[in-house]
Amino acid sequence: DLVTEPSGHVATVAAWTDRYTHAVMDTFGPPQRVLVRGDGCYVWDADGKRYLDLLAGIAVNALGHAHPTLTAAISAQLGTLGHVSNFFGTPTQIALAETLLRLAQAPEGSRVFLTNSGTEAVEAAFKMTRRVRPGGQVGRVLALEGAFHGRSLGALALTAKAAYREPFEPLPGGVEHVAFGDTAALDEAFSPAAVAERGPVAALVVEPIQGEAGVRPLPPGYLAHARRLTSDAGALLILDEVQTGMGRTGAWFAYQHPEVGGGVMPDVVTLAKGLGGGFPVGAVIAFGERAATLLGRGQHGTTFGGNPVAAAAALATIGVIERDGLLAHVRTVGALLREEIELSGSPLVREVRGRGLLWAVVLNRPVAAQVAAAALEAGLVVNPVAPDAIRLAPPLILTADQARVAAQFFATLTVPTEPEETP
Ligand code: PMP
Repeated sequence: DLVTEPSGHVATVAAWTDRYTHAVMDTFGPPQRVLVRGDGCYVWDADGKRYLDLLAGIAVNALGHAHPTLTAAISAQLGTLGHVSNFFGTPTQIALAETLLRLAQAPEGSRVFLTNSGTEAVEAAFKMTRRVRPGGQVGRVLALEGAFHGRSLGALALTAKAAYREPFEPLPGGVEHVAFGDTAALDEAFSPAAVAERGPVAALVVEPIQGEAGVRPLPPGYLAHARRLTSDAGALLILDEVQTGMGRTGAWFAYQHPEVGGGVMPDVVTLAKGLGGGFPVGAVIAFGERAATLLGRGQHGTTFGGNPVAAAAALATIGVIERDGLLAHVRTVGALLREEIELSGSPLVREVRGRGLLWAVVLNRPVAAQVAAAALEAGLVVNPVAPDAIRLAPPLILTADQARVAAQFFATLTVPTEPEETP
C-alpha cells in the first residue's frame, strides 16, 4: 500500500515530499506537489486537492489521464505479449511503424525506428547525420540557438543552452548553432565560404516550434528555405517534433500546416511525448529511399524500443485522436483558449503565441515562476517555461469550458509593483 504510512495515516504531500528529497536525485529540485491520481484533464495530489492539468506531463498525456481506451489497450497487450527482443517482430510494433508512415504521408522507402524517449529518437537522428558524408567528409550539423533536443551527450551537443552544456563538455563535435529563425544566418552557414572554411553541412536539425525555449514558432517560410538549402547541399533536414508532433498543434506533425512547413517533406522526423499518450515511446522516421542508407542492419539498437505494450499505447492514442476528430478539436479549442486569454484583459499578459494546444502566455514582467505558483494554489497546473512565459500544453481533450477556466485565471492577474511580488 503506497498511500498509507507505517503509522496508519494516509501520506500527505508534505510527508511524500520529505521522502522524495531523501531518495530521488535532486536533478529537478523538490516536487511542486506529489500527485496520486488523474482522470481526464484533472489530477489530484496526496492531500486530495484537484488541479486542472494544463501541462499534461509536458505535452504528453494527449488523451488526458486514465483514458479507458488507452488503459484497455495497454492491459490487453500486457496480458497477451508484454515484451519480446528485437530479434522478433510483433503486430503492434509493425502496425505502429505503418501508421506513422501513413500519418506522415511518407514516400516509398521510408522507415521507422522505435525508441523509448525523445532523447533517444534524437540520438538516432544524430547518428544518421554521421552517415551523410558530403564529399567523403564528416559534415557539420547545424542546430538553432535556443534549441532543446535532449540531455544525453549527443542530444546535448544539439541543445543550445549553455547552462545545460558547459558542465558536461566535451560534447560530441561538429555541431554549429545558428541564429534562430534567421534565413540570412542559414545562408551564411551553407555558403561556399563557410563550406571552404568549416567543411560541408551534413544536416540541419530544427524544432518547427521551439518548445523549451518558450514556445517560439519559426517565421513563416523558414522551413521551406531550410529545405531548399539542405537539398542543394545534399544535407538532411531533420525536424524534431518530439514536442510538436502527434496532434499537439492541430495536425499530426507541425510541418504539415502549410503556414509552418510550406509543403516541405523532411528527411528525418523525431517523435515522443504525446505519441504514447503517457506511455514512454518515441520514434524516428527516415523519409524516402535515403532511409535505408542512414541506419542499416547492425548500426543501431535498443532493448525496449518497439516494445509491444508501448506500441499498443501509441496505436490506441492515435486511434482515439482519429476516432474522436481530435486534430480539428485541438485547432478549435486551442484558438478559443488563446482568444479567451487575450480577451481576459490582464495587464500582465503581453502576448499568447504558439499553435493548437501548445501556447506560451508571454508576460510583461519576469514573474512566470510566481504566476505558476499562484496557478497551483488556484488549482491549475501550468509551466513557467521562461522567466517571462507560461507554457500551456493541456490534454488534447480539453473542453471549451476548461479552456475558459484557464483563461479566467489569467484574467485575475495584476501587474506587480516589484518583479519579486506574487501577483
Ligand atoms: N526534443 C524536443 C523538441 C523536446 O521538447 C524534448 C523534451 N522536452 C526532447 C527532445 C527530449 O525528449 P525526452 O525528454 O523524451 O527525452
